[in-house]
Amino acid sequence: MPLSSNFITGGLGPGTNLVLGGLGGTLFQEIVVQKVRGTRYGPPGYWGRTIHHRILCEETIQKTRALMQDHIQAGGLIADLWLPVYSPITGKKLVGITDHMPGPIECSCFKKTTQMSDRKCRSCYGQRLIPGYKKFGFRTYFMASVDKTLTLTNLVLDNTFTPNRLRLRDDQLTGQTVSVDYPFSHDNSDGSTWLSEDVAIVEDSVHASLLTEFSTDSGSTWNRLDRIGHINPNGRGRIRFRVTLTRESLKVASPMFEILRARHPVIEESSDGRIGPHILILRSVTANQPQNKVHGIVVERSGIRYWTVPLGFFDPTIPLYSKDEILKRNTFIEIREGQDNEIRFPILDWSASDPLGFATRQFFGARMAQENEFLSFVF
Ligand SMILES: [Zn+2]
Repeated sequence: MPLSSNFITGGLGPGTNLVLGGLGGTLFQEIVVQKVRGTRYGPPGYWGRTIHHRILCEETIQKTRALMQDHIQAGGLIADLWLPVYSPITGKKLVGITDHMPGPIECSCFKKTTQMSDRKCRSCYGQRLIPGYKKFGFRTYFMASVDKTLTLTNLVLDNTFTPNRLRLRDDQLTGQTVSVDYPFSHDNSDGSTWLSEDVAIVEDSVHASLLTEFSTDSGSTWNRLDRIGHINPNGRGRIRFRVTLTRESLKVASPMFEILRARHPVIEESSDGRIGPHILILRSVTANQPQNKVHGIVVERSGIRYWTVPLGFFDPTIPLYSKDEILKRNTFIEIREGQDNEIRFPILDWSASDPLGFATRQFFGARMAQENEFLSFVF
């Protein structure tokens, strides 16, 4: 394969291929030359057969990875990243620091007959498992109406509609639900704060109300959930949630509680804001450049293409070269600067430079989310 081609593939050993993307620049050229020399002059499988050459090859991967990380850190756009709690297609659960409490709960909108969830569902966002998405670099806590560990007083789970919601018993004017305690550990020394949302229906907000609260002393004192960023619980502790439903008379429709969520960052924000609970991305092809697809003579406008480095660079708790470093399906980003600021992009396709475990960077295509798309509701 000629050196001038954009992608150069070198054999690393049996069943392993490293693909390096050509970016230009002296250091990168050196790596490419080194790489090609190895494949060109060595017999097939040569690199994989001695410890010495094995180490050389890993050093090359590390150098390439470091170079990609330098590129992305210098010029990358800041983007928030949401990963699915669960991928219903592969059955693979994602792990890492981007976790959530309690563990995933199957949503009441999931229909066993069709194996489908409702995309518009605010509990799982069509991902089958609550809480649906995890925001990268954050820990999310949630209280869902269908959670069997909740204590209910004068409330009942209404299964007329999906997702099922909690409402007052027919003969009750007020009722309450309380969650168990969840351990938290939040370091706010970088100025980071908690965020929250609640999802409920109050048809008659003049004669009925719904109050969401949290407690960090196991229920002795309570604060409104929407003040959690201001109060900003710090250090190690325990947090629980409470929801109170009230109506003035039995003729008034009961408020319906669906889900509340709270979260705090778990990756420190650097003083310049470049490194934090987010990723950095770079465009790999301009947005409006037509791409020839292989389908005969039809030329389609391509989506927008980006690349980023493996996620372990942004989240040091993700093991290097592990599967958790690679983007998965049902993932989306929100760009936080530049012309696409605050726009959410579902990721359509993705590929790593080496899907077998030595990725140095990963590519993905994205399209702009429509304004009324369910993605805009994802917390
Ligand atoms: Zn759902």
